[in-house]
Amino acid sequence: MNTYGAVLDDFGMETMLDKVMEEYIRTISKVLFPEVGGSTLDAHHGFVVEYGMDRDLDLGFHVDDSEVTLNVCLGKQFSGGELFFRGVRCEKHVNTETQSEEIFDFSHVPGRAVLHRGRHRHGARATTSGNRINLLLWCRSSVFRELRKYQKDFSSWCAECQREKKERQHQSVSAAKLELLRGGETAT
Ligand SMILES: [Zn+2]
Repeated sequence: MNTYGAVLDDFGMETMLDKVMEEYIRTISKVLFPEVGGSTLDAHHGFVVEYGMDRDLDLGFHVDDSEVTLNVCLGKQFSGGELFFRGVRCEKHVNTETQSEEIFDFSHVPGRAVLHRGRHRHGARATTSGNRINLLLWCRSSVFRELRKYQKDFSSWCAECQREKKERQHQSVSAAKLELLRGGETAT
């Protein structure tokens, strides 16, 4: 997706990044993202991206090929480049509308990191001056990916699936109420 950047695993950093994932990301994800395999993260893809006038400017709306993504701002001096988040979605619902409560923007600060679900739709706004370099660590769980293949109702983490489920429950409650009312009418 990025023109300017480098895959860190190709530069001998694979073992180190694996340790970062196992010792830190997995520990945090076990608590924060258990429903997307946070405790079983076992593979990663690590890379850096560079933004600026003479680099990539922005990055369109997308989801990552990861269960959990670590995004660290390495610097240096820049303005703009905010991350915008627009709700967590499964494959089926990736292009559905954003609800107003799902709008969340984040401004990068050098030295700070964001940890989010890979399926949390997001993008990067244009870096308007300077140069911005970010380190990305896409963490994956083979257990989660395998389970997802066989279980149809496996998207409790998708906001749209949850919304549809609520809607179905609401409809069945309404239908049951109507049924009761009708029953009442025939009885009288
Ligand atoms: Zn869904």
